[in-house]
Amino acid sequence: MVKVNRVALIGTGFVGSSYAFALLNQGITEELVLIDLNEAKAEGDAMDLNHGLPFSPSRTKIWYGSYNDCSQADLVVITAGASQKPGETRLDLVEKNTKIFKGIVEQIMASGFDGIFLVATNPVDILTYAVWKFSGLPKERVIGSGTILDTARFRFLLGEYFDVDTRNVHAYIIGEHGDTELPVWSHADIAGTKISDWSKNKQDYKPEDLDNIFVNVRDAAYHIIERKGATYYGIAMGLVRLTKAILQDENSVLTVSAYLGGEYGQKDIYIGVPAVVNHSGIRQVVELDLNVEEKQKFTNSVNVLKQTMGPVFSKY
Ligand code: NAD
Repeated sequence: MVKVNRVALIGTGFVGSSYAFALLNQGITEELVLIDLNEAKAEGDAMDLNHGLPFSPSRTKIWYGSYNDCSQADLVVITAGASQKPGETRLDLVEKNTKIFKGIVEQIMASGFDGIFLVATNPVDILTYAVWKFSGLPKERVIGSGTILDTARFRFLLGEYFDVDTRNVHAYIIGEHGDTELPVWSHADIAGTKISDWSKNKQDYKPEDLDNIFVNVRDAAYHIIERKGATYYGIAMGLVRLTKAILQDENSVLTVSAYLGGEYGQKDIYIGVPAVVNHSGIRQVVELDLNVEEKQKFTNSVNVLKQTMGPVFSKY
């Protein structure tokens, strides 16, 4: 039998179905299986996506399936989970989703799955850690979407501000995918030229403009949710980018939630950092030489995550 790439998607809500649509449009996988607690939604999505196949760039077999179908998967992408209800704290959500993830990961592992996990459900850094714990897979094969979206938002806004193609902007957001994330200004450049030099040459430049760009990145999800209730296209495209890096063995540098075992002076945590991603998962974490202020903010981000995780994981 010829080996083909199979992606199993757990959760076909806003993020999951947008990911499936983007994946199909880019023709990246030969097989895509959709799994959701809401079976009718997953089945309906499979039918709908199949009807787009005559217009897609390559053949993809898409079906609504079960956890048994994960046995042959190269990649399992998890976008399933509960969302925050009014009156619920962040910690309530962490506890609820960790419990949901235990059930999901146990069923995936029971299928005989031996590939790579990619997690997008929030709080993504904590749930990626949960998948690593519950699956027993090597840390390299459990990846969270981390700050891939925040970094994309940052590059987009900087490109817009300096009027340069966003793809020529190289700048990272690292840390928690959330309120304590930070911009790495010390290593931000456009076409090999420091952002500070671009700023000098911009006539109407004001230092607070760059601060505002970061604040808009950090708070982007709140602004979008206020307007349309959820964010999904950006993250879906980020997940497709990661899927491509993994299935096509690209060795691409992307900001993902990766396990730190001493890098950045931190241990036993999944958090957003640049990392080289390929067919084996995370080949290596890229350790940026952060300045004093960035180091302090990164440490704070790690501490906030650990404080939230502590009470949850002590139960497992
Ligand atoms: P959604 O409510 O539309 O979809 C969630 C899906 O999960 C639903 O279809 C639901 O039926 C399914 N589900 C719930 N429990 C399940 C279980 N036990 N087994 C299988 N399926 C189950 O939500 P959404 O807007 O698609 O968001 C999904 C997640 O992605 C959220 O946690 C959200 O915060 C997160 N998100 C992450 C990023 C990021 O950058 N990482 C960006 C946007 C959204």
